[in-house]
Amino acid sequence: MKFDDLTLAPSLLKALHEEGYATPTPIQAKAIPPALEGKDVLGIAQTGTGKTAAFSLPTLHRLCSQPAVAGIKGPRALVLAPTRELAAQIGESFNAYGRHTGLRTAVIFGGVGQGPQVQAIRSGAAILVATPGRLIDLMDQKLVDLRGIQFFTLDEADRMLDMGFIEPIRRIAKAVPQKRQTMLFSATMPSEIRGLANSLLHQAVEVSVTPAATTVERIAQSVYSIERGRKVDLLAHLLRDPAAKRVVVFTKTKHGADKVVRRLRAAGIASDAIHGNKAQNQRTRTLDGFRSGRTPVLVATDIAARGLDVDGITHVFNFDLPMEPEAYVHRIGRTARAGASGVAITFCDDEERGLLKQVEKLTKANIERKQVPADLVALPKLAGKGGPTHATNDGGSHARGGHGGGGRGGKNRGGRGGKPAGKHAGHRGGSHGSGNSASQPAHAGGGEAGPGPSTGKPAPARHNWPGYRGPARRGR
Ligand code: AMP
Repeated sequence: MKFDDLTLAPSLLKALHEEGYATPTPIQAKAIPPALEGKDVLGIAQTGTGKTAAFSLPTLHRLCSQPAVAGIKGPRALVLAPTRELAAQIGESFNAYGRHTGLRTAVIFGGVGQGPQVQAIRSGAAILVATPGRLIDLMDQKLVDLRGIQFFTLDEADRMLDMGFIEPIRRIAKAVPQKRQTMLFSATMPSEIRGLANSLLHQAVEVSVTPAATTVERIAQSVYSIERGRKVDLLAHLLRDPAAKRVVVFTKTKHGADKVVRRLRAAGIASDAIHGNKAQNQRTRTLDGFRSGRTPVLVATDIAARGLDVDGITHVFNFDLPMEPEAYVHRIGRTARAGASGVAITFCDDEERGLLKQVEKLTKANIERKQVPADLVALPKLAGKGGPTHATNDGGSHARGGHGGGGRGGKNRGGRGGKPAGKHAGHRGGSHGSGNSASQPAHAGGGEAGPGPSTGKPAPARHNWPGYRGPARRGR
């Protein structure tokens, strides 16, 4: 089946063509036809399966083909998502697929000022993508009118329930007209989600794909037994692999993430942390740096395990094992997206053996054991607190001689308010060259006369580290 075989509006087919998408993914092929007929849809699918387009394309199509509720000015489609990152990504997808429809999308989430978001709603956005908490805030202040909603979608419903959003969701559902089309997507279908679906959906068509196994099959997984204190040395060693071009490292704690970043940066490896303690604008900047390839190593807590949608992640490292085995599958699913393959490497210390067993039980796999290299070099210890670098994203101003490959053909959906670049810019494979640079190493020094360390004793082959920009400098 091709997108052209679906009865989508020509403006949507044009945008899909520009995105380079010709064939619907399985969840799209299953969900789009009934959704176009106006049926409610219950979708069981994870991120990475193409589920965002599975609900955004029919929503856009029906917004174009159905009249609005008479006499009401507010948004006509509402999408709820658990996290700010996912909400932003969904908003970008609506903008990308809907770019020739004239329909506008407002994205609202907490952690940032509400003024511009309210303005975006008031300026006539037809589509509202929201996290439940901020939406309730705006509803309480009577700053948003949901009486015109005709299309209501809940994305990652299981995650929203995990995050305690059940009551907000129920309140929001009550504020939305009964007469509407509803779609609910969830990676898993425990009984609470079934219950929620039964209360919100009407004679829904159930569609599902089982990506967990298929995704995991494409990922080369391995595990190193290593004591906690040497994990960062092993990480730096493995990051030398030129194939490790775009890397996510998962740690258990926010503090742990910051610490890994400080150690890597001190060793000259461009990295940045993303977790719940970071302000929203910092998180956005960090993600932009990661998408653009400027910061090829992203150190994250599990908050980023779901919803992080960046193409071309080559490696996922479990610096710490996750407390929940399911999180392992979500974490490693950040690589091997959209049909690519990927590498997932786990570090396991003595205390984590039980967690590793649980992961192997869940994934029904014996993860390959690897030997810690005998010549593992210890990274320099940091000199006390506030060591040579900070965990905030100050990387941009440090990059030398350009960004070692620029956009690299990654997703790079562009910053808020900026012109979208990369995948959703419609230039993929075009004359802009970013497609070609996808095969370039991420490190800024690649192929250049890199700056030599000023005080000598560089570790051999250090220039192969992703984002290596020479030794970290103090006091910058
Ligand atoms: P999602 O599951 O919605 O997060 O999408 C996963 C990834 O697949 C995103 O990077 C999408 O841009 C991409 N994608 C979605 N639909 C298609 C398609 N039909 N063909 C190729 N890639 C797609």
